[in-house]
Amino acid sequence: MRTAGHIVAVALDAVFDALEPGITTAELDDIARRKIRAEGAKPAFLGLYGFPAVACISLNAEIVHGIPSERVVSEGDLVSVDCGAIVDGYYSDHARTAVAGETADEERERLVDVGREALMHGIAQCVPHNRVGDISDAVEQYVRDADFELVREYVGHGVGRALHEAPPVPNVGQAGTGPLLMEGMTIAIEPMIMTGSWETKVLDDGWTVVTADGSLSAHFEHTVAITADGPEVLTSAK
Ligand code: MG
Ligand code: MG
Repeated sequence: MRTAGHIVAVALDAVFDALEPGITTAELDDIARRKIRAEGAKPAFLGLYGFPAVACISLNAEIVHGIPSERVVSEGDLVSVDCGAIVDGYYSDHARTAVAGETADEERERLVDVGREALMHGIAQCVPHNRVGDISDAVEQYVRDADFELVREYVGHGVGRALHEAPPVPNVGQAGTGPLLMEGMTIAIEPMIMTGSWETKVLDDGWTVVTADGSLSAHFEHTVAITADGPEVLTSAK
């Protein structure tokens, strides 16, 4: 899982290095596919539940599960890329959001910063004998303090021999509740946050999840191992 995590992190480094206005989301997907294959891994999302691409790429009001296409990225677009890799049957799951180009407005920059930092607050709770609710609560409180909202209908999850395993890891919850975290568990924590209401809807393509009110969204995700020494982020490019 460490290897699978490293490979997907390197792939997203390549994707975000290439991100600039004028590139299509299909071109970004192609970069992810080539990098994962060059590193000797398999893309985890391609064909999973019938998904047609290597990465989910979601722009602006799209939260998750956007399908790469010939759509061109514009200056100031919020671009969320979610991707996974498989090595020897073990999965990784990783997502980041960034603003394309040089002219990000302050709200978009703040949304990205809060999403990234909320994930770090969740990860900090990944120690043996904490509970899933400690992660949820840490993420939720940080995002609420920043006056943003959090997705309810989609959650983080266990990850290992499959992309999606037990337990669910919600982004909203109460400290001290939920499944116990134990040494050796591997989970994906993935705050999906928005500037407006938490309600979502799915577009007619059957995949793309958007904010119901059209507000902007950001998504960050790491695959994390719970060890006796504390959390280890497996989706690391280092
Ligand atoms: Mg993911
Ligand atoms: Mg995930």
